[in-house]
This record gives sequence, structure tokens and C-alpha cells, in this order.
Amino acid sequence: MKWISDLIDLILPRYCAVCGTILSPNEQDLCLNCLCRLPRIDSIRMQEIEKLFWGIVPVERAASYIYYQKGSPYNNLLHKIKYKNHPEAATHLATSAAHELQESGFFEGIDAIIALPLSKKKERKRGYNQCDYIAKGLSAVSKIPVLKGCVERTKANETQTHKSREERWKNVEGIFTIANPDALQGKHILLIDDVLTTGATIASCAKSITALPDTRVSLFTLAYSYNKI
Ligand SMILES: [Zn+2]
Repeated sequence: MKWISDLIDLILPRYCAVCGTILSPNEQDLCLNCLCRLPRIDSIRMQEIEKLFWGIVPVERAASYIYYQKGSPYNNLLHKIKYKNHPEAATHLATSAAHELQESGFFEGIDAIIALPLSKKKERKRGYNQCDYIAKGLSAVSKIPVLKGCVERTKANETQTHKSREERWKNVEGIFTIANPDALQGKHILLIDDVLTTGATIASCAKSITALPDTRVSLFTLAYSYNKI
């Protein structure tokens, strides 16, 4: 029913999340121009991401898709995903990322995908967990199932913004609880978060999972904010 979406676009135009121009019916979230200029993570930064976890938690593979740079107009897109009720944009981006990850063999041997949970209170307030939408895009391409309800965030961590690197790592210790260890045991889990900064939060969750016998963890985040470290 292409004519219906064309008509809706005419009555209720959609705008590019980055530059604000009106989107054509075949564009999603971003105009073609902004999509081509998506600030992608290069291979050097990708290695930097893996190094964040060295000596802290054993991580098989770690990847991210786009940079989160201070002042970048692309932050609008991440803001829309997280706070403005447009989590479907996370699925679209994750789907694009997944096609490339699939080619590189990133998904090989991974048994299940888990989205980093929000605290129940936070998810109720926001109405959704943006990480679920990232997991959905990765699962659609890789055909790896998403496991729900196996990990819970039992403590809501305070804001990390004004904390030192050491304080951030301490602040998130033990905030996740494994609700269903039997479902995870013996598995290689791909853990998902939206934005990677110090890596403290996702590492805390990875630690809880790898504490179970015979489990392995890989990580994927939609964005990487290297300038915040
Ligand atoms: Zn644009």
C-alpha cells in the first residue's frame, strides 16, 4: 500500500533526525545524504573498544556502529531513540549494522542475544527499553534468538556524568541479577547496549553472566562515545 504511506507523508511529513529536511517516502529516520555521512566506527576504534574490557571481564568480541561525538548533529538521532519515543530507529540502524557484522563472522557461535535491562521503574517511565529495539534488528538478520527476562537490573545506578572513571566502575558493581541461570548456562551471549562510554555498565552485566559456569559473552553497542572517557 505504497500510496497510503505516500499520502501520510504528504499530510504528516517526516523529517530527517539529523538535518531536519523532509524525508521522501523511501527514506527512514535519515535523509540519504545524512545516511551516507553516518559517522561510522573504524577498525582502530573497534580495537579500542575491545581493550576497554581487558583485565576486567573476559569478552569474546566487542563491536559498535557509530560515534557519539560531542556537538554532532547525529546525537539527535540517538536522543530520539532514547527519549523521544522513536525506538524503531534503533532497529533500522541495528539491522544495517547486523548485515555488516554477519559478513565479518561476528555472530559465529553466538547462541542468544540479551538487551541490557533498564530498571523496572525507568522502563515504566520511558515506556520502552531502547536496547530491545537494537536486539530486534540484530536478531532479524542473524536469526539468533533474543532472550528476555534472564537478567534484571536490581539497582538503578545514579547518574554517571560527574563521576571519575574509578567511581563509575564502582557505582555499577552488582547492579544486575541473573533471574534465570539455567537459560544462560553453556551459552555464548551477545549483550546489547545503546551507547558505550566507559563500558562500566555493560561490563558489570557481562561479569554477572560470565560468573555462571561455561558462559561466554560478546558485546554490541549502537554508539561509542570515546570522547567522554
Ligand atoms: Zn538529513
